[in-house]
Amino acid sequence: MPELPEVQAHAERLTEQFHGSVLAKFVPITFTALKTAVPQPNAAYGSPLVDVGRRGKYLLLHFEPVTFAVHLMQGGRLLVDDKQSAKPRNGQARFVFDDGPALLLTEAGKERRAGVWALIPGTEEATAPLNRLGPEALDFTPETLAAAFEAHPMRLHGFLRDQHLIAGLGRLLANEVCHRAKLSPFANTRKLGPEGAATVVDAIHACVEEGLAYERTRPDMSSSADRPAAVHGRVGEKCPVCGDTIRSVSYSGYTVAYCPTCQTGGKVLADNTTSKFLK
Ligand SMILES: [Zn+2]
Repeated sequence: MPELPEVQAHAERLTEQFHGSVLAKFVPITFTALKTAVPQPNAAYGSPLVDVGRRGKYLLLHFEPVTFAVHLMQGGRLLVDDKQSAKPRNGQARFVFDDGPALLLTEAGKERRAGVWALIPGTEEATAPLNRLGPEALDFTPETLAAAFEAHPMRLHGFLRDQHLIAGLGRLLANEVCHRAKLSPFANTRKLGPEGAATVVDAIHACVEEGLAYERTRPDMSSSADRPAAVHGRVGEKCPVCGDTIRSVSYSGYTVAYCPTCQTGGKVLADNTTSKFLK
């Protein structure tokens, strides 16, 4: 799934290419693509795109009368669409501009979870789906993260992935942040204290900045196998920090990658999720 760096770099690319382009129409290709009834997309017809921003993993297409929030979910992409074919492959919705290419939302697979929300500018943060998001990952300070850890005792990896608590990180960055911070993915957030929170804030910044630096060199969004990672997608390989073998453990439907030497004092985590890890 595209995470903060991929979505942020894509927003920057789209702003550069499309700002000032006048919206001619918004065309839902599948009946599930547009998730909202009000405001109607046609309120933005004739308006230029101001810019493309980001909140969590949402792209925000800002027009003066309407903000379109686009979520790519697992297999979605917002592609520059030169051809505008009548039946685009995996097509979900299309933004057509007065001239130049369109923007095509595609989603591979059958899940049909990617989509577009039309929102009233100025009320985005108070409206679903953005009202469910926690603070931006990069906005946490050691103090605010320590307070959030204290309020939400849970496994660190689960906390980092929970968009209600901290917005923008996904599986890759949760794995990478735990490794960078040299903390177990199963560490209990409440037990990390102010020092642990400060370490996690530093790790978030380091991992996001590395991802962003890579993503900004690309002409389009990367797939997860391309992204810089020390442990994610590297199970069985050597840890670049200590040379130990990267391992994986299943945790509530996810596969978590970690380095025992760097993160768990050499301990191999078991594939069950009983509460003993919380002690
Ligand atoms: Zn290591």
